[in-house]
Amino acid sequence: MIFWLNSYFLAISRSDVSEMMNDINDLKELLNYPKDIVITTHRNPDGDAIGSSLGLYHFLKQLGHSIHIITPSEYPDVFSWMPEIEKIVIYDIDPEYSQELVEKAGLIFFLDFNGLDRIDKLGELIEPVKATKVMIDHHLYPDSCADYILSDTTASSTCELVVDFIKSLEMTRYLNDVVGDCLFTGILTDTGSFKYSTSAKLYRTVAELVELGVDDYRLQDLIFNSMKEKHLRLLGHCLNNRMEILEEYSTGIITLTKDDYADFDIQRGDTEGIVNFLLKVKKVKMAAFITEQPTIVKISLRSKGDFSVQEIAKKHFRGGGHKNASGGFSFQSLESTVNRFKKLLPRYKEQLSIQ
Ligand code: 5GP
Ligand code: MN
Repeated sequence: MIFWLNSYFLAISRSDVSEMMNDINDLKELLNYPKDIVITTHRNPDGDAIGSSLGLYHFLKQLGHSIHIITPSEYPDVFSWMPEIEKIVIYDIDPEYSQELVEKAGLIFFLDFNGLDRIDKLGELIEPVKATKVMIDHHLYPDSCADYILSDTTASSTCELVVDFIKSLEMTRYLNDVVGDCLFTGILTDTGSFKYSTSAKLYRTVAELVELGVDDYRLQDLIFNSMKEKHLRLLGHCLNNRMEILEEYSTGIITLTKDDYADFDIQRGDTEGIVNFLLKVKKVKMAAFITEQPTIVKISLRSKGDFSVQEIAKKHFRGGGHKNASGGFSFQSLESTVNRFKKLLPRYKEQLSIQ
């Protein structure tokens, strides 16, 4: 189910094939001549954000374009092996150069995010520029901030949609092993190694990537067996000292304080995946990972099955995301945020108790 949505008609989900083909032909035409292209993705980029950006970058490079990836903030070290990741421009570090690139761009891609508020100040820079804007994303409720929107909320990842995008342009001859490595990375991280958001279509897509020469074992090893000792100690600390299971509400919570961040020398990306451990408890249907950051308290939510955490993230924590993986933040203290989250639970008790 792919909806190509031209933002002028966002209200009507256009699955109409001829309209979709018009949009694709427009984009083919745009990509026919060398352009200055900017690819941007959400703050605190994860494997899908970085993988889809680099995958699209290596695809477009073969068409002769000049391309820059701009991320609002730094990417985790675990992805440092990815080809040409060092060329990513980080807005926080290089705001002037980012602005120059945005103002020069004829085409701007929004990957793995559904609204300009997800890219902070970079969004304010991009909003007024005249470049053609293309969003490729799988989050719920895309904003109409792009001229062309490829949105499929049933897709496992934006990386899966980048494969669809390349196929719809009829340019699979440029889908090589380098592009494949990048896209496979985001699929691996967003599905937790094929544990969630899978589909028959996804398995067919990854089979095609493996046929291109993607070494799935090597990628799993690079991404998931790259922990430092401190990561395992931090995980042990979270599970032993910072975990609370609220059986009555089928909910698990892990919290981390500012002191924990200092004691365990926690850097960007070091806490990735910890929230998922709570879902390993049979009775747990909702998991919350709540952490004290320098200026905000961040909340990461996960759920099993039909229970949606998207509404909780959006309504109560200024955030959003997917049905089974969402996030948000609060300006209150860690303790008040945790208490506020716990106070919400009785409202969802009935839904959470459905087996
Ligand atoms: P994570 O918990 O791994 O940070 O994020 C899980 C999902 O929730 C991601 O798809 C991410 O885009 C979304 N998400 C996380 N934090 C926020 C936020 O502050 N605002 C919005 N709108 N989405 C978020
Ligand atoms: Mn994603």
